[in-house]
Amino acid sequence: MIIPIHARLTPEQLQELESLTAEFGVRIQPIHGHERSIYAIMGDETSQDLINRIEGLAYIERVDRIQVPYKLMAKESKLSHHRVTIGNKILPGDFCVIAGHCTIDPKQKEMFFETAYAVEEAGADMLRGGVWKPRTSPHSFQGDARSLEILLEAREKTGMPINTEVMDYEQLKLCVEAMVDCLQVGARSALNYRLLQQIEAMTKDSATRVLLKRSMHMGPASEFILAAEYIVAQGNPNVMLCPRGTVPTIEGFRNAPDESITLLLKERTWAPVVVDPSHSVGKAIYVPHACLAAASYGADGVLVETHCQPKKGMGDDPKQAITPQVLTQLIKDMRVIHEAAKNYSPSASTLNTGVNTKTISDSSKGA
Ligand code: PEP
Ligand code: MN
Repeated sequence: MIIPIHARLTPEQLQELESLTAEFGVRIQPIHGHERSIYAIMGDETSQDLINRIEGLAYIERVDRIQVPYKLMAKESKLSHHRVTIGNKILPGDFCVIAGHCTIDPKQKEMFFETAYAVEEAGADMLRGGVWKPRTSPHSFQGDARSLEILLEAREKTGMPINTEVMDYEQLKLCVEAMVDCLQVGARSALNYRLLQQIEAMTKDSATRVLLKRSMHMGPASEFILAAEYIVAQGNPNVMLCPRGTVPTIEGFRNAPDESITLLLKERTWAPVVVDPSHSVGKAIYVPHACLAAASYGADGVLVETHCQPKKGMGDDPKQAITPQVLTQLIKDMRVIHEAAKNYSPSASTLNTGVNTKTISDSSKGA
């Protein structure tokens, strides 16, 4: 919908607008109100070039889009029935837990194996382990390619699928060759469109999952969804959206928790949402409640940093990793809340018909 600066366009302005939009194969339909006129775009308005050209006209205030700019991620798209599997969990529907170290210490591989066995025992569905790390300071530990061997060995020992972050083409290539089950795109890389395209090209038609974090600098939900559209655009629909906290931070938390965006993402897309509460609140004592909040917002899972001996960990582990003991109870509680939250999903017809939703205790009996 095109909103002019003044009450209505002059005939010359309307003519200019019509010839511009004709170049993009769309028409203009004026809608005359008592006080003002607005101008509807009839046809496909998803082209950003079209919108930029119209907004560049001096007499146009703005263009409000009615169509969403993403085609494949949209809830109504041809991929709407696609499901992502993590171990024996099918998303959306089931609840999955991805747990393990922020950073694998290449000098302490036994410690990683200990965590791997413990998170499996706790009920986690996938093992995380950071091989290469995006660190704010170049003097901090940057990760070590040898840790990939440790991660692969942990998969072999436990039988759990594995997740790790890739930041560039070389790392991506190594992980794809090693058939890493899930590639994590970190908050800093989520705006690296070239990397997103490379991931899409390298994992096309494969079963590789991609866990896409929301960049701390992303604004509207559509910006996040469009980043995911890059990955599904030519053949890998196994994408999961991961809110992980945003800026400006809240004093006391590492970031501003954004798990509530799950509601918007699930209303607008078909993709599973797996929340990362660890980087959101950034402190182990806050993490369990943040996990429960994610489940109550209807998330399909969580990515949670977990370490058998956090004090001896590297990277974020000493400050924000929970222990496998805490994870064990948490997984049980999150699954109960997840079941209950399903009844309150934005699409649940019960909300509109006034029929009472089931209570949490009813759901927990059946869970
Ligand atoms: C991580 O998962 O360890 C990490 C670096 O996350 P983020 O990209 O969200 O900061
Ligand atoms: Mn981390």
